[in-house]
Amino acid sequence: TKTTETRTFEADVSRLLHMMVHSVYSDRDIFLRELISNAADACEKLRFEAITRPELLGEDARPRIGILADPDNKQLSVEDNGIGMGRDEMAEALGTIARSGTRAFIERVEAGKATEDSQLIGQFGVGFYSAFMVADHVDVISRQAGSEEAWRWSSNGKGTYEIAPVPLAASPKRGTRVVLHLMEDATSYTTPYRLEGLAKSQSGHVPVPIALVEKPGAEPRDIADGTALWVRQKSEIKPEEYTDFYRSVAGQYDEPAATIHFRAEGRQEYSVLAFVPGSRPFDLFDQDRKGRMKLYVRRVFITDDANVLPRYLRFVRGLVDSADLPLNVSREMIQESPLLAAIRKGVTNRVLGDLAKLADNDTQAYARIWENFGVVLKEGLYEDYERREQLLKLARFRSTASDETLRSLADYVAAMKEGQKAIFFMAGDDRARLEASPHLEGFRARGIEVLLLTDPVDSFWTTIAPEFDGKPFKSVTQGAADLSDIPLLDTAAKSMAETNPEIDGFLAFVKSTLGDEVSDVKASDRLTESAVCLVAPEHGPDRQFERLLNAAGR
Ligand code: ADP
Ligand code: MG
Repeated sequence: TKTTETRTFEADVSRLLHMMVHSVYSDRDIFLRELISNAADACEKLRFEAITRPELLGEDARPRIGILADPDNKQLSVEDNGIGMGRDEMAEALGTIARSGTRAFIERVEAGKATEDSQLIGQFGVGFYSAFMVADHVDVISRQAGSEEAWRWSSNGKGTYEIAPVPLAASPKRGTRVVLHLMEDATSYTTPYRLEGLAKSQSGHVPVPIALVEKPGAEPRDIADGTALWVRQKSEIKPEEYTDFYRSVAGQYDEPAATIHFRAEGRQEYSVLAFVPGSRPFDLFDQDRKGRMKLYVRRVFITDDANVLPRYLRFVRGLVDSADLPLNVSREMIQESPLLAAIRKGVTNRVLGDLAKLADNDTQAYARIWENFGVVLKEGLYEDYERREQLLKLARFRSTASDETLRSLADYVAAMKEGQKAIFFMAGDDRARLEASPHLEGFRARGIEVLLLTDPVDSFWTTIAPEFDGKPFKSVTQGAADLSDIPLLDTAAKSMAETNPEIDGFLAFVKSTLGDEVSDVKASDRLTESAVCLVAPEHGPDRQFERLLNAAGR
């Protein structure tokens, strides 16, 4: 039915809009970036659909984005000739919130957490709704590719929106026009130099050309040419161009911590442009653990759902553009292609290789990456058997031998004591508590370094009994701590574990008193000051893992 309809926003959208109007963002400029990014997405979606349905493009095959200023009427529009939206698409896309990250954002702001941390606010791409930071009324006029109908969505952002049919003459021939009726204090967004500056700096590298129309009737002027940054020579790209591109592809507002740009040639030909973010993206710990690497085939965007990198590298943001993958097959088939499997392998190795190089050449930069993403990388220690060795080399730890500086396992092994056979660790929730634990006494007394592991993931990878450089990992809260071969630092002190009839009698007494509560009672080298500590059996979970399992109700 072609009638006008008024609908109510989903409750979360209303909450989000309320925040937009009361500008939780200190930086309102980002609305333009969000609208341009949607316009570019729409052009890329069309480019993909047109592979199998070329008639969708018709006469108008060249994708483009227009920014149209109308200072006299205090209006600003962003227009594209992309895929467009029908009535139902509009209601779905512009009346609900699909992304879990956005919901997380709302919760943070409402909990009052976000204002303290403007960096963090910047990381939540709030998308289309950010238009309401600068406009008190927004119209979206759209005609879907291949459709004979056009629709207008309009709203003042206060609870409801309206969807109505519009005559074809009043809509773009194909695609979407978003019209912002600017607030009084936002009318400077119609100034040409301001628009040009913003569009170039925020969106200069979207893969669709952008033109500016300074006032109704004026000639469009090209302000960005839409060439893909990743096909250009590395030597010709300026650092700030990489940063702009990083911000638009990763939805981040900071500087990248590492940039990985290369072209693979030979059996497989593909380009990779990827970044390690400078701070944690908000969706890093989402349940689905999804990666955010985009897959292109010969500059056509295919999907951001191709698992180009393993889940433990999901913090890496960017894209792969393949020259060999077939275009004219479904997304699903591309994902299962053996060619893509080879690309996955190549890209994963390259990313890990570049991280290893950085770890060697710039310890500080690498330490910052590890602080942000080490907890995610460590998932690979139990998920990626083939690369475990490589990942162990990348891993960094805090230990009893260092305060704030991170230690590598190579550092640890180099500092091992004569007679020490294992890499000792202690897992727990909190470093201060670990350091106070009696389990460490005997190790301290011998000058043996113990790794202090405080991430929940540590309990998992350590249980699969990895080795490093031929040395097993061993929990100090588990089994017998065989330290008898390693001399005490204080040579006058005596080992506790030496057999002694007095101690044997005492042990028998404790054992009979505790009965079934414990499986054994032993004298140990582990302690020097404390009288006793609890230790887990040699095989099975260590004390921290037991606690985690209990907490999980198992
Ligand atoms: P996101 O871009 O992350 O999906 P947005 O809030 O920016 O979130 O946009 C919501 C949805 O609205 C998009 O996913 C898309 O379906 C639709 N949309 C927005 N702008 C356009 C446009 N110019 N052309 C087609 N669809 C659009
Ligand atoms: Mg968007």
